[in-house]
Amino acid sequence: MSQRLGVVQISTGDILRQAIREQTPEGKLAQPYMTDGKLVPDEVVNEIVAAGFRNPQCEKDFVLDGYPRTAQQARALDEVLQGQGLNLNAVIFLAVDEPEILKRLGGRWNCPNPGCQVTYNSVNKKPRAPGQCDECGTPLVQREDDKEETVRKRLKVFNQVNADLLNHYRRQDLLIEVSGTGDIETIYQDLEKKLKMKKPSGDSKPKS
Ligand code: AMP
Repeated sequence: MSQRLGVVQISTGDILRQAIREQTPEGKLAQPYMTDGKLVPDEVVNEIVAAGFRNPQCEKDFVLDGYPRTAQQARALDEVLQGQGLNLNAVIFLAVDEPEILKRLGGRWNCPNPGCQVTYNSVNKKPRAPGQCDECGTPLVQREDDKEETVRKRLKVFNQVNADLLNHYRRQDLLIEVSGTGDIETIYQDLEKKLKMKKPSGDSKPKS
């Protein structure tokens, strides 16, 4: 989606994994939570995002991925955006059932090359050469937290916090629900159609 819209993708998961690789203070703090399939404390993730928006070079058009994940994070994001005079156009909930999530994450393989990071799936997006990235040839790896037992824990945590998060954005009339099952193009078309209903096409500026 960020590629097709030509906007930056801000993924707290990617930022945290990078922080762990670099062993920064946030990375050291986040590591045990992530390995255990738990959410990193709100204040840590909120500060990472807020710091990004404090940067005068920060982009005004973006796709946030994996953030906010709790109602508390959503409230913190509201404040940060308000401080910057920005608004969200929409909040997308990609609905996928649990057996399918377990199947997908169990088959997910990633290119660890920081400049590449393409994701593959042994079910629906196999690399041309087994275990090797099509783009740069780097051997593919599986994420520690994609192990089945950890995914089950992540789903449990998700189910505990997600209803409040969705309600937060339902109240703001920002929520779009899209089925994330089936063919990727069909999913994207549905998403695009629903997104256009929230945001006039061609308008890359946030809705005021
Ligand atoms: P993801 O790559 O989005 O699946 O995130 C991987 C892991 O990073 C999650 O299971 C959490 O441990 C942590 N994480 C990423 N984003 C957040 C967030 N917004 N709040 C709390 N923890 C997060």
